[in-house]
Amino acid sequence: MKVLRVEPAVPETEKKECLDKKNSKCSIFLIYVRGKRKMSDKIQNGIYLDNAATTRMAEEVEEAMEPYMREKFGNASTGYRYGEEAKDAIEEVRARIAASLDAKPGEIYFTSGGSESDNWAIKGVAGARKDRGRHIITSRIEHHAVLNSCEYMERLGYEVSYLNVDETGMVSVEELAGLMREDTTLVSVMFGNNEIGTIEPIGQIGHLAREAGVVFHTDAVQAYAQMPISVHQYPIDLLSASAHKFHGPKGVGFLYVREGIELPSFIHGGAQERGKRAGTENVPGIVGMGKAVELAFSDLRVRMRRETMLRNYLMEKIRHEIPQVRINGHSTKRLPGNVSVSFRNVEGASLLILLDEDGICASGGSACNTGESRISYVIEALGVPEEYAKGTVRLTLCGNTTRADVDAAVESLKRNVSLLREE
Ligand SMILES: *Cc1c(COP(=O)(O)O)cnc(C)c1O
Repeated sequence: MKVLRVEPAVPETEKKECLDKKNSKCSIFLIYVRGKRKMSDKIQNGIYLDNAATTRMAEEVEEAMEPYMREKFGNASTGYRYGEEAKDAIEEVRARIAASLDAKPGEIYFTSGGSESDNWAIKGVAGARKDRGRHIITSRIEHHAVLNSCEYMERLGYEVSYLNVDETGMVSVEELAGLMREDTTLVSVMFGNNEIGTIEPIGQIGHLAREAGVVFHTDAVQAYAQMPISVHQYPIDLLSASAHKFHGPKGVGFLYVREGIELPSFIHGGAQERGKRAGTENVPGIVGMGKAVELAFSDLRVRMRRETMLRNYLMEKIRHEIPQVRINGHSTKRLPGNVSVSFRNVEGASLLILLDEDGICASGGSACNTGESRISYVIEALGVPEEYAKGTVRLTLCGNTTRADVDAAVESLKRNVSLLREE
């Protein structure tokens, strides 16, 4: 098995020599130079398969935002026309988002994105309900925004129980029922996992929580705008989402909070967001998110079906053309665009370098984990054998991904996996 590392210090002339150098029997350490490429050009010409990390902003989104960065610059909290215009624009987005979830506009709070929404939901709900109890339940495979918020609550004296997952990444509703206690105040389980794509049994979890009088939060950053979600249908009390995961701008998102759920202010200051989240509204960001929501929901079901088919095609092609692979996550209860695959006896980080060389952007797990060759905690929680786990890559599609992109990605995977497996 070969291991590659990026060594920016090696001059271009030495590159080839280093690439060919074999310096040990079992592990060949290749040194490779990453030139000063313009990444944006590369992504334009290459194949972007890391849509779970972030998406390219839609052109229509940029166009919708532009006036609010120029002539419509008013502060939404002022009374004159410029302000009114901004205020109207953000209220229109609030109503649009509410409609997309079967919620009420008053239940939508704008935030700076998924991380803030998760932090607010967990710290806010647990804090507000501390007199009832200090027990939180979450899962082992949550995003760090949830896990680290829970860890913070532990340091404040709260107790956190972590749900295990089966080999497909699914939590067990029975285990959850067993963990529920008198003093449990909050359950936080993600809608769809960012690394392996598994969709959790949100309806059942919500019903269980509701019967027990426990508040239920779900991190739906990967699922919102990728599949239909109704807070009318699902007993979800709080839901986090982020615009840059569905072709909107970065640094803006929202938290849905069901009417009647007690949630204290997270950012103290002015009276924005009904006194719950101070700070001058990010008007261009909110308007951009609104446009992204409009675009995403205009063809949601068609896009979902198409993306799911392309995803299944990619999974099948990998299984068919490359030996000794494991597809991680659930086979059907899965985000439309997610493929997580582990190659036996391949180092994931090295494979990503070679994919990048072919113009293919993929990632090792969550974006936060790349650069480390540690096995991801999500993959570990599935119980994937180590010789597979260390060779895990995630390919995530979007509505613009084509069959030709997928074919090229599999070609590159096939060639590079075989190269890295060579003795
Ligand atoms: C990206 C992501 C987040 C963080 O959202 P940001 O808007 O980048 O802060 C949280 N949870 C999940 C599941 C994500 O994929």
